[in-house]
Amino acid sequence: MDELKSRIRKDGTVINSEILKVDRFLNHQIDPQLMKAIGKAFAIHFQNAGITKVLTIESSGIAPALMTGLEMNVPVLFARKKKSLTINEDSLTTDVYSFTKKVHNTVLLEKDTIIKEDHVLIIDDFLANGEAALGLTRLVELAGAAVSGIGIVIEKSFQQGRGRLDRAGYAVYSLARIASLNDHHVQFLD
Ligand code: 5GP
Repeated sequence: MDELKSRIRKDGTVINSEILKVDRFLNHQIDPQLMKAIGKAFAIHFQNAGITKVLTIESSGIAPALMTGLEMNVPVLFARKKKSLTINEDSLTTDVYSFTKKVHNTVLLEKDTIIKEDHVLIIDDFLANGEAALGLTRLVELAGAAVSGIGIVIEKSFQQGRGRLDRAGYAVYSLARIASLNDHHVQFLD
C-alpha cells in the first residue's frame, strides 16, 4: 500500500534494527484518514473470504480493525490483556509474549463473542515473531470458529512471524513489508 509506505518513510522512526516507531499515525497519535484507507485495503483483499467478524488485540490493533469492520460491515472484537491471575472462568484465554514489552500476557475473549459458525479476520498493527497473531488464532480455534485471514498493517519480514503464519496455513496479507531496518533505514521488501 503506497500511501502507508510513504507515511512510514516520512513519519516512522527506526529505533534500532528490530523496532520501528510509528507513534505519529498508528500507535499513539492516530491518522483516521490513513486508518480508513487501511480498512478499505483489507476489506477489498478479503472481500470473498466470507468474513463475519474482525478480531484484534488491544490496544494498537483497534484502530485498523475498527475501520476494517466498518468497511466489511461486521462486528469488531478486541482480545483483552489481563494482567491479574483472576481470570473469568467464562472466558477463553491464551498466553501471548509481547515483543515490545518483553512480558507474557494472558489475553482473553469473553465466551460466546465468537461462535463456531464465525469466519474471523484477524488484524494487527505489526507482525514481528507472530506471537500476538498466533495467540489470536488460538482464541478463535478455542471458540471452534475458523480463521479466514490475517491482515497486518506493518510486517517486519526479516523476523519469524510471517514464516510461522505461512507454515501454519493461514492466508496472510500485509500492507507494508519491511525487509530490513538496518543502518536506521527502512528498506521495503517490494
Ligand atoms: P509479535 O507478536 O508478532 O512478535 O509482535 C507483534 C506485536 O508487537 C504487535 O502487536 C505490536 O504491538 C508489537 N510490535 C512488534 N514489533 C514492533 C515494532 O517494530 N514497532 C512497534 N511499534 N510495535 C511492534
